[in-house]
Amino acid sequence: MQCLTCKTTSLEPKEIEPGLLVAACPQCGGALVSLMNYRFWLDQHQGVAEAELLPELDVPGEQPGERDCPKCRQVMKKFQMGLNSSHKIDLCESCDEAWLDKGEWQLLKQLDLHGKLPRIFTQAWQNNIREARREALQEDRYEKMLGVEDFMHVSSFRQWLYRHPRKEEIKQYLMIAPE
Ligand SMILES: [Zn+2]
Ligand SMILES: [Zn+2]
Repeated sequence: MQCLTCKTTSLEPKEIEPGLLVAACPQCGGALVSLMNYRFWLDQHQGVAEAELLPELDVPGEQPGERDCPKCRQVMKKFQMGLNSSHKIDLCESCDEAWLDKGEWQLLKQLDLHGKLPRIFTQAWQNNIREARREALQEDRYEKMLGVEDFMHVSSFRQWLYRHPRKEEIKQYLMIAPE
């Protein structure tokens, strides 16, 4: 099996964690992770899902472009890793194999996501990230529009309002123009 990035380099078996065997590329440091192997590993290592304090990571940025699965040659599907990362993980849905570029496993560990790999590939996970990013953009836009101080006032009022049991009445009241 050839590396999907380097094309001519053969993937070799490598243990990236005790008990977790992947097909790694000795040249670019990428790795093909079988989700079946991953699940076996996770079942036996429930204690691993703890964030490790890793030193500064030297992870190259997300590499754009489509990837073809090294097993079946189909185009892999991209999944956002998490809210605080611009990295995407490629997955072949027919083979159930994920491709991690150099450093992405370390990144998953740092973000405490290394025990959540299959969950990243769910629609719910992807939707949450999209929704949170959309909200952050919206907050940003209003902060710029209103200025920091007024935005802080209005956003704390808004939080109070949306937790209030009579929020509908308060909203109605706000819409009434004063004399
Ligand atoms: Zn490679
Ligand atoms: Zn495949």
